Amino acid sequence: MSERFSPKVVPLVDLRAGALPVPAAANLPGGRITANGLLTDTLGRNLRDLRISVTDRCNFRCGYCMPKEIFDKDYTYLPHASLLSFEEITRLAQQFVNHGVQKIRLTGGEPLLRKNIEVLIEKLSRLRTVDGTPLDLTLTTNGALLARKAQSLKDAGLQRVTVSLDALDDAVFRRMNDVDFPVADVLDGIRAAQAAGLGPIKVNMVVKRGTNDQEILPMARYFKGSGLVLRFIEYMDVGATNGWRMDDVVPSAEVVQRLQTEFPLLALAPTSPGETAQRWGYADASGAHDPQAGEIGVISSVTQAFCGDCNRARLTTEGQLYLCLFANQGYDLRSLVRGEASDADLAHAIGHIWTGRSDRYSELRGAQAPDTGGGARRVEMSYIGG
Ligand code: SAM
Ligand code: SF4
Ligand code: SF4
Repeated sequence: MSERFSPKVVPLVDLRAGALPVPAAANLPGGRITANGLLTDTLGRNLRDLRISVTDRCNFRCGYCMPKEIFDKDYTYLPHASLLSFEEITRLAQQFVNHGVQKIRLTGGEPLLRKNIEVLIEKLSRLRTVDGTPLDLTLTTNGALLARKAQSLKDAGLQRVTVSLDALDDAVFRRMNDVDFPVADVLDGIRAAQAAGLGPIKVNMVVKRGTNDQEILPMARYFKGSGLVLRFIEYMDVGATNGWRMDDVVPSAEVVQRLQTEFPLLALAPTSPGETAQRWGYADASGAHDPQAGEIGVISSVTQAFCGDCNRARLTTEGQLYLCLFANQGYDLRSLVRGEASDADLAHAIGHIWTGRSDRYSELRGAQAPDTGGGARRVEMSYIGG
């Protein structure tokens, strides 16, 4: 059955207009915060990773993210004037970097739909971390436009890409993107990204039980030994429109178990603090990790909370700062950046917001009965970015 006809889709609760105002910088309590590369929230977590959504539009209609029933021809996207300009994004990004951000990921919606995205990439690629090193600058895409754009993205200064790909089987893939897009074109895009040197490339597969879980093994076979890292993502209860049910989640432990029926795997250590994926390496005949065969990752956002070292902030297309993927409100930075605020005021505001952060939704969800997804007031993934 097409996800389009699923009875589980829940009407959209539009949270876009409900941003929290940032108090006038001069009035913020707690003294002036200047950026010194080390911002710590109430749970001791440093700000390191900024995800910037550059558009709320997409050329796919994945049922778990932008179901067609909601995101149809009558859906109102943000008007162009609401979007942060490239100059505004770069000015804000600079302040985040001054506060310690080392990695910026462009996302959306589909980021390659944002006109002249290369111009933004060029601007961001000139930023330097507080240690003077270039940023880890990356982008998550559905790959539809990648074959066309890989080289210009690389030339603009993008370092690497993550490509979302939920199936190799063309019929399954077309059903999941729900716009009849052929898988061959995404695979071409991945090859173009490899050829352009946009690596190491990660491939993200959201696993939904009964929809694409039969693709777990074929995907692993295809990417094993390719130099690409395939990551299996638990279907999350993000947003409120996808009609999420726990029954649809394939826990990462089950994914690993299924893979181990064909490939011996061994757990690998994390490469950096705050890493979202648990790494598993393909083992050789002696049981040691075979680097040629590579590794896979599992992202267990539902069954194994990882809020403890969550160092990610999210900037929406219209300039709201979200402190958690599951938050129901963001802070309105756009009115600051479009107003009288100086760079020092912006830095102070960001510092003030992050130092007050206590979000740990996934951990709390683990401790409570699972949400049915029903009328939850949560921001949509396509708006906040993944
Ligand atoms: N359009 C781009 C893409 O699909 O790669 C970037 C934006 S998309 C919102 C970012 C990531 O979020 C994708 O890898 C997508 O698979 C993932 N995602 C969206 N909805 C999800 C959900 N309900 N559960 C888990 N992952 C989800
Ligand atoms: Fe579009 Fe990405 Fe959401 Fe799919 S997951 S609908 S490609 S934004
Ligand atoms: Fe971070 Fe929120 Fe996800 Fe926890 S639930 S890991 S705080 S984004």
